Amino acid sequence: MIKGKNYINGRFIETKGETFEKKNPANTDEVLGVFPQSEEKDINEAVKAASKAFPDWRSLSRIRRGEYIDNLVQVLKREKEGLSALVSKEVGKAISEARAEVTEGIHMLQYVFGTVRMPMGDVVASEIAEKDSFMRRKPKGVVAVITPWNFPFAIPWWLMAPSVAEGNTVVFKPSKETSCIAHRLAECIQEVGFPPGVINIVYGSGERCGMFLVRHPETVVVLFTGSAEVGQEIRKVCAEYPEKMCACEMGGKNALIVLDDADMNLAVNGAVISAFKTSGQRCTAASRIIVHEKVKKEFEKRFVELSKRMRIGDPMDPNVFMGPVINESQLKKVLSYNDLAKKEGAEVLLEGGRLTGPEYGKGYFLSPFIYRKKHDHRSRVLTEEVFGPHVAVIPVKSLEEAIEVHNATEYGLVLSVITEDYRKAREIRDRCDYGLGYVNLPTIGAEVHLPFGGVKKSGTGLPSASTLIDVVTHRTAWTINYAREIKMAQGMKVEL
Ligand code: NAD
Repeated sequence: MIKGKNYINGRFIETKGETFEKKNPANTDEVLGVFPQSEEKDINEAVKAASKAFPDWRSLSRIRRGEYIDNLVQVLKREKEGLSALVSKEVGKAISEARAEVTEGIHMLQYVFGTVRMPMGDVVASEIAEKDSFMRRKPKGVVAVITPWNFPFAIPWWLMAPSVAEGNTVVFKPSKETSCIAHRLAECIQEVGFPPGVINIVYGSGERCGMFLVRHPETVVVLFTGSAEVGQEIRKVCAEYPEKMCACEMGGKNALIVLDDADMNLAVNGAVISAFKTSGQRCTAASRIIVHEKVKKEFEKRFVELSKRMRIGDPMDPNVFMGPVINESQLKKVLSYNDLAKKEGAEVLLEGGRLTGPEYGKGYFLSPFIYRKKHDHRSRVLTEEVFGPHVAVIPVKSLEEAIEVHNATEYGLVLSVITEDYRKAREIRDRCDYGLGYVNLPTIGAEVHLPFGGVKKSGTGLPSASTLIDVVTHRTAWTINYAREIKMAQGMKVEL
């Protein structure tokens, strides 16, 4: 069992006061760790350490900062199997998915390491031949990083790696549900020997610990990934400060669109992967399958058959496709949406519910729930994020209707279209609202060198991963005159 301590200024800090436990979602008898419920004074200490570290860290060459990241990659690669097992245990994610997540986090660090030798700005022309102008990126200062539980390894690196490579310092607050993996990250950061205060980690609740961090006057950037409700609250708070900016990556009500010419193998496999990987608890999971009437019958039959065959159980078992959901409140939420679907008149295609018995009794295991429902913009189950193995098949009669139904939610994160017709795929590409789009693929499976971020309620228009550099740096203009006299742009006269 892990006895977690806040990691501040390069040291693990003993704290007195309230603590919280993290349990294994597949077996709630097992306590994985105990962590401090940090208070305002702990947050102040962490931000103070990050502020103090900023001037020296910023002054270091960008390439030297990158070398710390390369060293971190070596440590994380060595620890990969243990980290993957911990992600699997702590989140309930199938072990192969946990390994893929750790790989993705390492890829992000490798990508960022590569960028430190790349240009950090541009040289641009001036109207005046004797002037050179530069666009240079400058770090901003202390960055607050607040993350969800479903990607406890990859998301922190999507956000922290570009932040520190560009010369910012960080205070990171992980989800309470994944404090164990954050603790292991702190140990790896300490082993690498990042200068004290460059990355600090504090544990605790969102309302107390997270909000203190958002409200702290010295956190100039807030990088948040989580639900749309919390993200919206954070945006409002940041707007109260003249200098604070936030980039929020939030939920989705993603759709897989199966057109009348679809390759049915791609459609059915894509639907199962999109709906049920990580038990549907990915921001990129598809909870809506929009299917053309012409292929609906075959699709539904095969989708339900394949979903019934999914192995549900201990996520550490390599044959398991779907582990438990994260906690009791998520389990209850999904069950309540299953009931709501029936109340809203859905036709159930595969009944889902809590699994019991010796294999499942001690964990939060759910079987998949699949239903058919005609689109109705007032339907809560068709428009709200559920975040579990709960998926609607929505029949449509045309490409036009598929696009209309796709856009009829307040979210816009990911879509996938299954079609053999490149003209139809192009219509979807140009007329649907999304941040990440796929053709003949599941809605999951992002790669770090692409932007990651949604539109509408799903994001703030400032994607993370490879494009986060735009959020954590300020583009400055720097112009030099080489002439012995002053000549102005726009033909302005300066003679006295
Ligand atoms: P959440 O919004 O409940 O919590 C996310 C983080 O915010 C946690 O660290 C939490 O402690 C903190 N928090 C909660 N309330 C806060 C407050 N008032 N002030 C400051 N911080 C606060 O989300 P979750 O349940 O951890 O994760 C699931 C959600 O995350 C889903 O909506 C999912 O779609 C979304 N998600 C989005 C992306 C993306 O990149 N778009 C990726 C993964 C998950």
